[in-house]
Amino acid sequence: MIGEFLPEALEFYRCIEERLGVVLWHPMPIMRLAGNDDEWAKMRAKAARADVEVWVDRELAKQEIDGWLGGFEIRGGGRFDVGSFVDRSREFFQARGIYRKDEIRFDRDEMARVWCDGAAGLVSGRHGESRCAKGEILTVRATEWDEARIRVGAGGWLVPLGEGCFKLGSTYEWERLDMEPSEAGLERLRRIATKLGGANFEIIAHEAGVRPILRRSEPLIGPMSEGGWMFNGLGSKGSLYAPGMARRLATWMLDGKGPEEHFDIGAFRKRL
Ligand SMILES: Cc1cc2nc3c(=O)[nH]c(=O)nc-3n(C[C@H](O)[C@H](O)[C@H](O)COP(=O)(O)OP(=O)(O)OC[C@H]3O[C@@H](n4cnc5c(N)ncnc54)[C@H](O)[C@@H]3O)c2cc1C
Repeated sequence: MIGEFLPEALEFYRCIEERLGVVLWHPMPIMRLAGNDDEWAKMRAKAARADVEVWVDRELAKQEIDGWLGGFEIRGGGRFDVGSFVDRSREFFQARGIYRKDEIRFDRDEMARVWCDGAAGLVSGRHGESRCAKGEILTVRATEWDEARIRVGAGGWLVPLGEGCFKLGSTYEWERLDMEPSEAGLERLRRIATKLGGANFEIIAHEAGVRPILRRSEPLIGPMSEGGWMFNGLGSKGSLYAPGMARRLATWMLDGKGPEEHFDIGAFRKRL
């Protein structure tokens, strides 16, 4: 759903950048790399599909893909600086006296309460069954690595942050949904780093989080039977989906006009 959600997300973030006076979106081409014949065949077939072709810039030349079997340069990619977005937004609201750190208690208008409680809400079981996945990432310093492009391959990704630093990830774990970085995760991330960047890097941070998943990485919204509204299931793609889904939820709450059935939590639950 990138074609549907990306333009709206970028326009939303552009407005926020203007409002907060900060750069949040750093556009960058993506190198999508294949490590074996099977993967390369699948990737070529997918790249030829009409809905995917529009995002493919070109096939990468042999000299650009040292150690890989093939690859494409993909357009539309970039890094969204979520940390700055959250920090600067908090400051913005604090300065106007409309930010509270603790859970907000509703004395009235319970129906307007929105449960945007992400992975914590899903893991608690408040919204029924879920399929959340823990993931771990590294921040590394590697002054010799290419900083011009995002690399995706070997089951991972590598994103330049500037000044010789990179983020890379990520692991998937469905059983132990804690927020603790693990030894097994570190081992897997080291392999991804070596494959996508190279052997020379220094680890700056190792973090873990839980992706809020209800149905693949697709969001679901809607009224809850016990009152209030749900906004969840952003999965691995919160930055892409959040603006478009928030607009859909606001339209539903304020004008009574629901979204496409696909995003309706009630319709989703009925199909289970
Ligand atoms: C390893 C990893 C890699 C990822 N990579 C990407 C990526 O590349 N691109 C991307 O777009 N997304 C990525 N994601 C997914 C992204 O983090 C999620 O989509 C996003 O965080 C979901 O946002 P959310 O606000 O719905 O939920 P959350 O981020 O889980 O936030 C919910 C918040 O609600 C708070 N909360 C919960 N219950 C209560 C309560 N009762 N009262 C008050 N507060 C409460 C929680 O403390 C939390 O701060 C990744 C996630 C992981 C773990």
